[in-house]
Amino acid sequence: MFNKILIANRGEIALRVVRAAREMGIASVAVHSTADSDAMHVRMADESICIGPPASQQSYLSFPAIISACEITGAEAIHPGYGFLSENAGFVQIVEDHGISFIGPTAEHIRIMGDKITAKETMKNLGVPCVPGSDGGVATLEEAQRIGAEIGYPVIIKATAGGGGRGMKVAQNAEEMEKAFLTARAEGKSNFGNDEVYIEKYLTTPRHIEIQVFGDGKGRAVHLGERDCSLQRRHQKVFEEAPGPSISAEERMAIGKVCADAVARINYIGAGTIEFLYENGEFYFIEMNTRLQVEHPVTEAIFGVDLVREQIRVASGMEMSFRQEDLTINGHAIEVRINAEKLPNFSPCPGRITQYHAPGGLGVRMDSALYDGYSIPPYYDSLIGKLIVHGRDRPEALARLHRALGELIVDGVDTTVPLFHALLEEEAVLSGGYNIHWLEQWLDANL
Ligand code: ADP
Repeated sequence: MFNKILIANRGEIALRVVRAAREMGIASVAVHSTADSDAMHVRMADESICIGPPASQQSYLSFPAIISACEITGAEAIHPGYGFLSENAGFVQIVEDHGISFIGPTAEHIRIMGDKITAKETMKNLGVPCVPGSDGGVATLEEAQRIGAEIGYPVIIKATAGGGGRGMKVAQNAEEMEKAFLTARAEGKSNFGNDEVYIEKYLTTPRHIEIQVFGDGKGRAVHLGERDCSLQRRHQKVFEEAPGPSISAEERMAIGKVCADAVARINYIGAGTIEFLYENGEFYFIEMNTRLQVEHPVTEAIFGVDLVREQIRVASGMEMSFRQEDLTINGHAIEVRINAEKLPNFSPCPGRITQYHAPGGLGVRMDSALYDGYSIPPYYDSLIGKLIVHGRDRPEALARLHRALGELIVDGVDTTVPLFHALLEEEAVLSGGYNIHWLEQWLDANL
């Protein structure tokens, strides 16, 4: 087992990793930009080291700064968290070339899954059901129009390098194809430096269901059921739960096995998430994320496992601590993402926290790096906390969420908390009867 690991991240996820490491008796090193000198992850880690100025490019995304920090502190492994360098195959390669362990999958797996066309091809070959669409990249508008006519409108044009909801455009009919095709290409080029696009059937009323998988890198893998992340704004999740209210035990077992077998066959190591759209009882693969997800705590809650601990174990060469038959679901968990954003436009709202009080009590977990007097810097993303509740069933989890939101105090900045208070009044949310478009429509009508 490692003696010391470095966390190449900030905010709540850096703190999350510090906590797992401490429980395992492993020392942690926090890295931080000059804007984060007073951040909670810096205070809580055993050691900290400044790696550059506020701009992420020169700090949290700087390979030389992070590798040097490892060498100076003697850290043997790097946990990347999510975002930043967590899915950067080039970084993983360099880390390993320096004799440092990467707590995550191999550079090769990250590369395959980071390109959506190769990812889809690979998954299809591994027997995972995919959304009907073009076979690989679509180079010209004529080809795009031919494929649109073939699979039938509406279709979605996606940048193969896209992520975070960017680089995707829907064409409702043949007339809209030209604009959608050219915009998706341009967005891919400007955001990700790659203008390759592909086309998929656009599903009109799907839910977003994702399967958590975990591999040991030696051909053994398990699944930890699904998360339903259908409540989205601009393709970004805001409310996630496990198990999915629309998924039966039989469906879970079947799709879970397909996913676990697929990653076992490629000797996948560590945590991964296989994302699907789910419509009329069918699953359609959209992408795989080769990292820990923001919403991993809902899975931890219902299975009673620590996914970060498990990541660290397998990265150090140890066995996974569970087998498929050890994993049983207990109750229901919901996470809401608390962002420092001003409604109704969700504009970022950095600033000083004058008062912070975290909710507590049975079945409540607050993952946040906030504290009284903390100043949220304007340079990074607006997620400031995740409130996770666990109950014996969905109604109990909803009641607990309502109660915990009422206890939470975040003064000094605007947050998305009022959105969740309002959503908990909605019949569709209480019954779980929504698809991925429901929240956008609700926001248009209510905010
Ligand atoms: P990103 O990498 O940007 O997150 P994804 O491929 O994971 O992109 O898709 C993000 C979201 O976009 C999905 O959760 C869903 O809401 C929507 N989406 C993606 N593909 C389709 C599709 N074929 N039909 C309908 N909606 C889609």
